[in-house]
Amino acid sequence: MKKYFSLLKKQILCLVATLLATVTITVIAQNNCINLKLNKKPTYTSTYEWCKKRAKANVNMKATVLLIFLKIKSKKDWKNLKNNIAKPYGPWSYTKVAMPENMQNCVYNVFNNHEVVKAVKPISIHKERKNDGKVQKIVVQTENFGTIKIATVSGNLKGKVTTDKDGYTIILSPSTIKKLKLSNDSIKGIIGHELAHIIYDDAFEWYIFDTVYCKKHWYLNPLEYSDYYFALSRACETRADIVGTFGNPRWAKGLIEFFKKINTEDSSDHISKHSTHPTPKQRIAYLEKIYKFLSNK
Ligand SMILES: [Zn+2]
Repeated sequence: MKKYFSLLKKQILCLVATLLATVTITVIAQNNCINLKLNKKPTYTSTYEWCKKRAKANVNMKATVLLIFLKIKSKKDWKNLKNNIAKPYGPWSYTKVAMPENMQNCVYNVFNNHEVVKAVKPISIHKERKNDGKVQKIVVQTENFGTIKIATVSGNLKGKVTTDKDGYTIILSPSTIKKLKLSNDSIKGIIGHELAHIIYDDAFEWYIFDTVYCKKHWYLNPLEYSDYYFALSRACETRADIVGTFGNPRWAKGLIEFFKKINTEDSSDHISKHSTHPTPKQRIAYLEKIYKFLSNK
Protein backbone atom coordinates (compact mmCIF):
# COMPACT_ATOMS: atom_id res chain seq x y z
CA MET A 1 0.00 0.00 0.00
CA LYS A 2 2.81 2.37 1.01
CA LYS A 3 4.57 1.58 -2.25
CA TYR A 4 1.39 2.34 -4.17
CA PHE A 5 1.06 5.78 -2.53
CA SER A 6 4.67 6.63 -3.21
CA LEU A 7 4.13 5.71 -6.87
CA LEU A 8 0.97 7.83 -7.00
CA LYS A 9 2.83 10.73 -5.41
CA LYS A 10 5.53 10.45 -8.05
CA GLN A 11 2.96 10.42 -10.84
CA ILE A 12 1.17 13.48 -9.42
CA LEU A 13 4.48 15.34 -9.11
CA CYS A 14 5.33 14.44 -12.69
CA LEU A 15 1.95 15.69 -13.87
CA VAL A 16 2.34 18.97 -11.95
CA ALA A 17 5.83 19.47 -13.42
CA THR A 18 4.55 18.88 -16.96
CA LEU A 19 1.62 21.22 -16.39
CA LEU A 20 3.89 23.93 -15.00
CA ALA A 21 6.25 23.58 -17.97
CA THR A 22 3.32 23.85 -20.41
CA VAL A 23 1.90 26.90 -18.64
CA THR A 24 5.34 28.57 -18.59
CA ILE A 25 5.87 27.88 -22.31
CA THR A 26 2.38 29.20 -23.17
CA VAL A 27 2.73 32.36 -21.08
CA ILE A 28 6.16 33.15 -22.51
CA ALA A 29 5.06 32.32 -26.05
CA GLN A 30 2.36 34.98 -25.79
CA ASN A 31 5.02 37.41 -24.71
CA ASN A 32 6.81 37.12 -28.02
CA CYS A 33 7.47 40.82 -28.41
CA ILE A 34 10.05 42.93 -26.71
CA ASN A 35 8.15 44.38 -23.78
CA LEU A 36 10.08 46.76 -21.56
CA LYS A 37 6.94 47.59 -19.50
CA LEU A 38 7.98 51.21 -19.03
CA ASN A 39 4.55 52.04 -17.54
CA LYS A 40 5.43 49.72 -14.65
CA LYS A 41 8.74 51.38 -13.86
CA PRO A 42 9.04 52.03 -10.11
CA THR A 43 9.98 55.61 -9.21
CA TYR A 44 13.11 54.60 -7.30
CA THR A 45 14.83 53.28 -10.44
CA SER A 46 15.99 55.15 -13.56
CA THR A 47 14.62 54.57 -17.07
CA TYR A 48 17.98 53.20 -18.17
CA GLU A 49 18.37 50.79 -15.23
CA TRP A 50 14.75 49.65 -15.62
CA CYS A 51 15.12 49.00 -19.37
CA LYS A 52 18.34 47.08 -18.71
CA LYS A 53 16.61 45.01 -16.05
CA ARG A 54 13.59 44.32 -18.27
CA ALA A 55 15.79 43.42 -21.27
CA LYS A 56 17.71 40.94 -19.12
CA ALA A 57 14.46 39.48 -17.76
CA ASN A 58 13.15 39.06 -21.34
CA VAL A 59 16.25 37.08 -22.28
CA ASN A 60 15.95 34.90 -19.17
CA MET A 61 12.29 34.16 -19.91
CA LYS A 62 13.02 33.09 -23.48
CA ALA A 63 16.04 31.03 -22.45
CA THR A 64 13.92 29.30 -19.80
CA VAL A 65 11.58 28.00 -22.49
CA LEU A 66 14.42 26.49 -24.48
CA LEU A 67 15.81 24.91 -21.32
CA ILE A 68 12.39 23.40 -20.58
CA PHE A 69 12.30 22.04 -24.13
CA LEU A 70 15.71 20.50 -23.65
CA LYS A 71 14.83 19.20 -20.18
CA ILE A 72 17.71 21.10 -18.62
CA LYS A 73 16.52 21.61 -15.07
CA SER A 74 18.65 24.35 -13.58
CA LYS A 75 20.98 27.21 -14.45
CA LYS A 76 23.77 25.16 -12.88
CA ASP A 77 23.11 22.26 -15.28
CA TRP A 78 23.17 24.70 -18.20
CA LYS A 79 26.47 26.17 -16.99
CA ASN A 80 28.00 22.71 -16.66
CA LEU A 81 26.79 21.82 -20.13
CA LYS A 82 28.30 24.98 -21.59
CA ASN A 83 31.61 24.19 -19.94
CA ASN A 84 31.69 20.82 -21.69
CA ILE A 85 31.05 22.14 -25.20
CA ALA A 86 33.97 23.41 -27.23
CA LYS A 87 33.54 26.94 -28.58
CA PRO A 88 33.40 27.00 -32.36
CA TYR A 89 36.17 28.87 -34.10
CA GLY A 90 38.02 28.55 -37.32
CA PRO A 91 39.38 30.39 -40.28
CA TRP A 92 36.80 32.85 -41.56
CA SER A 93 36.13 33.66 -45.13
CA TYR A 94 36.08 37.47 -44.88
CA THR A 95 38.56 39.57 -46.81
CA LYS A 96 40.47 41.83 -44.47
CA VAL A 97 40.78 45.50 -45.36
CA ALA A 98 42.54 48.48 -43.82
CA MET A 99 40.83 50.21 -40.89
CA PRO A 100 40.18 53.92 -41.54
CA GLU A 101 41.74 56.26 -39.01
CA ASN A 102 38.42 57.51 -37.64
CA MET A 103 37.43 53.91 -36.89
CA GLN A 104 40.72 53.30 -35.10
CA ASN A 105 40.04 56.35 -32.95
CA CYS A 106 36.51 55.11 -32.23
CA VAL A 107 37.86 51.74 -31.01
CA TYR A 108 40.37 53.45 -28.69
CA ASN A 109 37.65 55.78 -27.48
CA VAL A 110 35.29 52.88 -26.65
CA PHE A 111 37.95 50.98 -24.70
CA ASN A 112 38.79 54.16 -22.77
CA ASN A 113 35.19 54.61 -21.68
CA HIS A 114 34.81 54.30 -17.92
CA GLU A 115 31.88 51.84 -18.05
CA VAL A 116 33.55 49.69 -20.72
CA VAL A 117 36.75 49.59 -18.66
CA LYS A 118 34.70 48.45 -15.66
CA ALA A 119 33.00 45.70 -17.69
CA VAL A 120 35.86 44.22 -19.71
CA LYS A 121 38.97 45.33 -17.75
CA PRO A 122 41.40 46.02 -20.62
CA ILE A 123 45.06 45.25 -19.89
CA SER A 124 46.64 46.45 -23.14
CA ILE A 125 45.63 47.70 -26.58
CA HIS A 126 47.67 47.74 -29.77
CA LYS A 127 47.31 48.12 -33.54
CA GLU A 128 48.19 45.25 -35.85
CA ARG A 129 49.48 46.35 -39.27
CA LYS A 130 49.63 44.65 -42.64
CA ASN A 131 52.84 44.52 -44.72
CA ASP A 132 51.96 47.85 -46.29
CA GLY A 133 51.86 49.44 -42.85
CA LYS A 134 48.10 49.95 -42.81
CA VAL A 135 46.18 49.04 -39.68
CA GLN A 136 43.90 46.03 -40.16
CA LYS A 137 43.15 45.05 -36.61
CA ILE A 138 43.17 46.41 -33.08
CA VAL A 139 43.94 43.87 -30.39
CA VAL A 140 42.75 44.42 -26.82
CA GLN A 141 43.90 42.10 -24.06
CA THR A 142 41.29 42.02 -21.33
CA GLU A 143 41.10 40.56 -17.88
CA ASN A 144 37.48 39.43 -18.20
CA PHE A 145 37.03 38.24 -21.81
CA GLY A 146 40.45 37.19 -23.11
CA THR A 147 41.64 38.84 -26.31
CA ILE A 148 39.08 41.06 -28.05
CA LYS A 149 40.09 41.91 -31.61
CA ILE A 150 38.39 44.51 -33.76
CA ALA A 151 38.93 43.70 -37.42
CA THR A 152 37.78 45.37 -40.63
CA VAL A 153 36.61 43.37 -43.64
CA SER A 154 35.14 44.02 -47.06
CA GLY A 155 31.51 43.47 -47.95
CA ASN A 156 28.07 44.42 -46.78
CA LEU A 157 28.27 43.59 -43.08
CA LYS A 158 26.67 45.51 -40.22
CA GLY A 159 28.76 44.25 -37.30
CA LYS A 160 29.31 40.75 -36.02
CA VAL A 161 31.08 38.85 -33.24
CA THR A 162 32.95 35.61 -33.81
CA THR A 163 34.55 33.39 -31.17
CA ASP A 164 38.27 32.69 -31.28
CA LYS A 165 40.59 30.29 -29.50
CA ASP A 166 41.65 33.04 -27.13
CA GLY A 167 38.61 35.32 -27.07
CA TYR A 168 36.46 37.13 -29.62
CA THR A 169 36.65 39.21 -32.78
CA ILE A 170 34.33 42.09 -33.56
CA ILE A 171 34.09 42.40 -37.33
CA LEU A 172 33.15 45.71 -38.94
CA SER A 173 32.88 46.73 -42.57
CA PRO A 174 34.23 50.16 -43.54
CA SER A 175 32.34 49.99 -46.85
CA THR A 176 28.98 49.63 -45.02
CA ILE A 177 29.93 52.49 -42.71
CA LYS A 178 30.85 54.63 -45.72
CA LYS A 179 27.74 53.64 -47.67
CA LEU A 180 25.44 54.54 -44.77
CA LYS A 181 27.52 57.64 -43.96
CA LEU A 182 27.66 56.61 -40.30
CA SER A 183 29.00 59.09 -37.75
CA ASN A 184 31.71 58.24 -35.24
CA ASP A 185 29.00 58.03 -32.54
CA SER A 186 27.20 55.39 -34.63
CA ILE A 187 30.45 53.42 -34.99
CA LYS A 188 30.98 53.58 -31.22
CA GLY A 189 27.35 52.56 -30.65
CA ILE A 190 27.81 49.53 -32.91
CA ILE A 191 31.06 48.51 -31.17
CA GLY A 192 29.27 48.89 -27.80
CA HIS A 193 26.43 46.66 -29.04
CA GLU A 194 28.90 43.95 -30.15
CA LEU A 195 30.75 44.25 -26.84
CA ALA A 196 27.49 43.57 -25.01
CA HIS A 197 27.11 40.35 -27.06
CA ILE A 198 30.61 39.38 -25.87
CA ILE A 199 29.80 40.18 -22.24
CA TYR A 200 26.81 37.79 -22.34
CA ASP A 201 28.52 35.25 -24.62
CA ASP A 202 25.44 35.41 -26.86
CA ALA A 203 27.06 33.94 -30.00
CA PHE A 204 28.11 30.81 -28.11
CA GLU A 205 24.71 30.31 -26.48
CA TRP A 206 22.97 30.71 -29.86
CA TYR A 207 25.38 28.17 -31.32
CA ILE A 208 24.47 25.65 -28.60
CA PHE A 209 20.71 26.21 -28.88
CA ASP A 210 20.76 26.31 -32.66
CA THR A 211 23.30 23.70 -33.66
CA VAL A 212 24.27 21.37 -30.85
CA TYR A 213 20.94 20.87 -29.12
CA CYS A 214 18.64 21.23 -32.07
CA LYS A 215 20.46 18.33 -33.71
CA LYS A 216 20.60 16.26 -30.56
CA HIS A 217 16.93 16.81 -29.74
CA TRP A 218 15.67 16.29 -33.28
CA TYR A 219 12.53 14.61 -31.94
CA LEU A 220 11.27 17.96 -30.55
CA ASN A 221 8.94 19.78 -32.87
CA PRO A 222 11.69 21.63 -34.77
CA LEU A 223 9.34 24.39 -35.90
CA GLU A 224 8.18 25.19 -32.39
CA TYR A 225 11.69 24.98 -31.06
CA SER A 226 12.98 27.40 -33.67
CA ASP A 227 10.18 29.90 -32.84
CA TYR A 228 11.51 30.13 -29.30
CA TYR A 229 15.06 30.16 -30.48
CA PHE A 230 14.38 33.21 -32.68
CA ALA A 231 12.44 34.89 -29.86
CA LEU A 232 15.53 34.44 -27.69
CA SER A 233 17.72 35.92 -30.41
CA ARG A 234 15.52 39.04 -30.62
CA ALA A 235 15.59 39.43 -26.83
CA CYS A 236 19.40 39.14 -26.84
CA GLU A 237 19.58 41.84 -29.52
CA THR A 238 17.48 44.21 -27.41
CA ARG A 239 19.66 43.51 -24.38
CA ALA A 240 22.79 44.23 -26.49
CA ASP A 241 21.24 47.50 -27.77
CA ILE A 242 20.51 48.70 -24.25
CA VAL A 243 23.49 47.36 -22.30
CA GLY A 244 25.77 48.28 -25.24
CA THR A 245 25.12 52.00 -24.79
CA PHE A 246 27.05 51.66 -21.50
CA GLY A 247 24.86 54.51 -20.27
CA ASN A 248 26.33 56.89 -22.87
CA PRO A 249 23.71 59.12 -24.55
CA ARG A 250 25.86 59.76 -27.63
CA TRP A 251 26.24 56.06 -28.35
CA ALA A 252 22.48 55.61 -27.91
CA LYS A 253 21.91 58.47 -30.36
CA GLY A 254 24.49 56.92 -32.71
CA LEU A 255 22.62 53.61 -32.69
CA ILE A 256 19.31 55.39 -33.33
CA GLU A 257 20.85 57.13 -36.36
CA PHE A 258 22.18 53.79 -37.60
CA PHE A 259 18.76 52.08 -37.25
CA LYS A 260 17.06 55.03 -38.96
CA LYS A 261 19.39 54.52 -41.91
CA ILE A 262 18.82 50.77 -42.13
CA ASN A 263 15.09 51.30 -41.62
CA THR A 264 14.89 52.65 -45.16
CA GLU A 265 16.35 49.33 -46.38
CA ASP A 266 14.24 47.19 -44.07
CA SER A 267 11.05 49.08 -43.44
CA SER A 268 8.94 46.11 -42.29
CA ASP A 269 6.78 46.90 -39.28
CA HIS A 270 6.15 43.32 -38.33
CA ILE A 271 8.26 40.81 -36.59
CA SER A 272 8.24 37.49 -38.36
CA LYS A 273 8.54 34.38 -36.25
CA HIS A 274 11.96 33.90 -37.73
CA SER A 275 13.36 37.39 -37.31
CA THR A 276 16.70 37.26 -35.55
CA HIS A 277 16.47 40.98 -34.71
CA PRO A 278 13.64 43.31 -33.63
CA THR A 279 12.61 45.68 -36.44
CA PRO A 280 14.66 48.89 -36.72
CA LYS A 281 11.45 50.77 -35.75
CA GLN A 282 11.13 48.84 -32.48
CA ARG A 283 14.79 49.38 -31.69
CA ILE A 284 14.53 53.12 -32.40
CA ALA A 285 11.46 53.34 -30.13
CA TYR A 286 13.11 51.98 -26.99
CA LEU A 287 16.47 53.64 -27.68
CA GLU A 288 14.75 57.04 -28.06
CA LYS A 289 13.31 56.64 -24.54
CA ILE A 290 16.71 55.68 -23.16
CA TYR A 291 18.44 58.51 -25.04
CA LYS A 292 15.96 61.02 -23.68
CA PHE A 293 16.68 59.88 -20.14
CA LEU A 294 20.48 59.65 -20.53
CA SER A 295 20.81 63.07 -22.18
CA ASN A 296 18.77 64.75 -19.43
CA LYS A 297 20.76 63.26 -16.60
ZN1 LIG B 1 23.57 42.09 -32.41
